[in-house]
Amino acid sequence: MEDQLKKIKEKALKEHIPIIMDDTLQEIEKRMKQNNPSKILEIGTAVGYSAICFSKFLKEQGFIDTIERDEQRAKEAKENIKTMGLENKINLYVGDAVEILPTLDQKYDMIFIDAAKGKYPFFLKESLRMLSQKGIIFADNILYKGYVLGDYNKHKQRTAVRNLREYIAETTNNPNLETEILEVGDGLAITKIKR
Ligand code: SAH
Ligand code: MG
Repeated sequence: MEDQLKKIKEKALKEHIPIIMDDTLQEIEKRMKQNNPSKILEIGTAVGYSAICFSKFLKEQGFIDTIERDEQRAKEAKENIKTMGLENKINLYVGDAVEILPTLDQKYDMIFIDAAKGKYPFFLKESLRMLSQKGIIFADNILYKGYVLGDYNKHKQRTAVRNLREYIAETTNNPNLETEILEVGDGLAITKIKR
């Protein structure tokens, strides 16, 4: 199985699919080990690499809901999930998360946001609606190559940068939330509900 996973990872890297970086994954795994989640929501499946990695830390009976809008990638994700024997643990929604999220109504104890950067504020709103009291939200690429904390604003990616800044502002200014921003990978925001 480790071999299969390695193959999936190497193929994705070769095809320039932006799968989770090793140090980001380690940081998330560290927290999953302390507190195994039973329900995970992932926004942005790509070919299923991160979901497959996360599945190792699920509680018994736990499952992952994951959303991917690119049909080709979703198809490959489905195949990879099957190869790994995880059809019963990983449930893939094919479509735009902007449309699918409002149709979901569950409590998740871990949410991984890893899709269109311009939609992060919307993903946050939907995630907070479905986050369990002890849940945790991870948002990948939050520092976007360092653009987000710089004075950068003249670029075709400025909508993404503006929305990532808005995500950080909303999670850090909300008195009910506790947020850490880590400089691992492309930046990882970790948000919990204050207790
Ligand atoms: N989490 C994956 C990598 C995801 S890459 C891993 O680490 O293995 C980001 C993915 O999000 C891309 O495949 C892209 O097609 C998808 N995506 C971007 N915007 C989306 C949206 N609005 N709805 C659903 N998927 C989206
Ligand atoms: Mg990412």
